[in-house]
Amino acid sequence: MPLNPIRHPMAIAAGQLDRGLRRRLAADLRTALVRGELTLHYQPRVRLRDGETTGAEALLRWHHARRGSVPPAAFIPVAEGSDLIVALGGWVLRQVATAAAARPWLGRVSVNVSARQILSRALPGQVEAALAESGLPAERLELELTETLALQEGPEVAAMLARLRDRGIAIALDDFGSGYASIGRLRRLPFTTLKLDHSLIAYLPGQAADLAVLRAVRDLGHALGLRLVAEGVERPEQRDLLAGLGFDEAQGYLFGGPVPVDALVPDALPGLAPAAGSPTVTAACP
Ligand code: C2E
Ligand code: MG
Ligand code: MG
Ligand code: MG
Repeated sequence: MPLNPIRHPMAIAAGQLDRGLRRRLAADLRTALVRGELTLHYQPRVRLRDGETTGAEALLRWHHARRGSVPPAAFIPVAEGSDLIVALGGWVLRQVATAAAARPWLGRVSVNVSARQILSRALPGQVEAALAESGLPAERLELELTETLALQEGPEVAAMLARLRDRGIAIALDDFGSGYASIGRLRRLPFTTLKLDHSLIAYLPGQAADLAVLRAVRDLGHALGLRLVAEGVERPEQRDLLAGLGFDEAQGYLFGGPVPVDALVPDALPGLAPAAGSPTVTAACP
């Protein structure tokens, strides 16, 4: 039996999916939305100073009728190959805004945005529609952009993002340090938040040189007025070290992995469990 290229971890980088499979996945993805195969999971983000949950990142999940679970690393690049990602991105924004509006204690929700959504100029309209339909305050939304997008940016993109930021929406540079970082770009686009890629965190506590890199990123980020968030925090030593260095927030399996929306209850989120005797904010679905 040949390896299932979707499940085999070495083959899922979409560039390695053969063209036939890519085409089939793209076709299936078009119907996945109406078939209800796509869902969002949410991963908590925690303030390092006091361990309180400050919000959650929405992450797409695809349960394919025949193939089972297909990871975002396989299907997001496929969707990004066409305007499908624009429609998908709009759907994600509406879903997340609605879920967050119904959960006022959840804090700020982060949505990953693809370059094509921005370059197609669809993003501002999608954001406004999602906020208007749900009633979610703009201050409770964050958009996460990757460095690959920043590579293509021009003054028009910067102006579009600045208008969103001026509405109160947080703008994060995702996966910082994963390979394409340019420090100049941090100044050219109106970011409010810097998310450090898990590759910078994975080997911590690590060596003196690893710490030197983190200190430099911290100083740069804070000098630019950015909120610094570490991704992929899996161990208590990493949390303690990042807290000691003065990083603001963290995300990772240590605090909780991505979970379905019904599992998003204060009791299950770090720092949000209601004090004894206070009324339960909401009940978990069975
Ligand atoms: P990302 O935005 O950098 O999301 C973080 C990824 O790290 C998620 O993978 C998450 O499940 C994983 N993760 C969380 N905690 C840990 C940890 O402690 N250790 C490690 N090693 N990993 C951790 P996931 O869910 O497979 O998503 C992969 C990527 O797919 C995301 O990376 C994002 O770039 C993209 N993606 C997911 N949902 C969407 C979406 O709605 N729209 C777009 N455009 N892209 C999305
Ligand atoms: Mg992200
Ligand atoms: Mg990331
Ligand atoms: Mg990523």
